[in-house]
Amino acid sequence: TLAFYLEKKREEEAAHRRRQALVGKKSVTQDGREVHVCCNVGNCEDVQAALQNDCEGVGLFRSEFLYMGSESLPSEEKQYAQYARAARMLGKKLLVIRTMDIGADKQAACLPLPHEENPALGMRSVRLCRQRPEILLTQLRAVCRASAEGNVAVMVPMIVAAEEVRWVREMAAKVQGDLQREGIPFDKNMQIGVMIETPAAVLIADELAEECDFFSIGTNDLTQYTCALDRQNAKLEPFFNPHHPAVLRAIKMTIDAGHRHGIWVGICGELGADTALTETFLRMGVDELSMNAKSVLPVRKIIRSIDLSKPSDK
Ligand code: PEP
Ligand code: MG
Repeated sequence: TLAFYLEKKREEEAAHRRRQALVGKKSVTQDGREVHVCCNVGNCEDVQAALQNDCEGVGLFRSEFLYMGSESLPSEEKQYAQYARAARMLGKKLLVIRTMDIGADKQAACLPLPHEENPALGMRSVRLCRQRPEILLTQLRAVCRASAEGNVAVMVPMIVAAEEVRWVREMAAKVQGDLQREGIPFDKNMQIGVMIETPAAVLIADELAEECDFFSIGTNDLTQYTCALDRQNAKLEPFFNPHHPAVLRAIKMTIDAGHRHGIWVGICGELGADTALTETFLRMGVDELSMNAKSVLPVRKIIRSIDLSKPSDK
């Protein structure tokens, strides 16, 4: 047994050394298509791990952890400190901050929600913000201020209507107007994007694309809502097919709609790290893949082995 595990350890160390050789290299296919391989993070320590694994940016900063770890709603200053630090750590690399995705599987003591029969279909994310706009305004102020410290974008989860995006944009414009009057610096060109994680968002992706600067596909929720499979229910495992053709088709439709309107499209759900699908996503035209830090170099290795000019054998 000892010999077996020592051999496994040696193999893993050798694989690690081979992956390290990819640090500093581009995530580019044999025929020259470049894709951005980014990381999903929940705090600045994760950003550190992302940078150590040579991420090309942060495609998803899960800001709700700031709320989940706090007895009271996080203040503008507390949020600003985290976002600005992450932005500075990343320098020119893009930092996509997701507005708080509280509700359903992510409950926060500082934001108690009434009991619901179906919380996954209930009061969560942007819906909560519409009910309590002051929460979004505080968060947007912190994000906009942090945008002066690096390359920051903001994205909104659980979108189902173009009108929701227009409302968020109005909120952002109000915050930026206030900052301007107060002489506080911010990036006037900060990108505003949305997560595509509901079938409704996929079906109206053309309309949504007119309202925003990028899409990031949340395949965890998109799979849950497309296949009507509760992502929290372990008993449903036998029915779960992460490569369900409906989900893959929804991803392709989203990428096509985004590109028709000249915006970039990424994937930040778990599927982004699934190397069995990397070539499929590249052939669909995806621009960015965002994942856990450990997956960056393995995914880059696969991307660099792909030749999109040759017919797929998949
Ligand atoms: C997703 O739904 O794919 C996603 C990235 O968001 P979360 O898993 O945090 O809901
Ligand atoms: Mg989600």
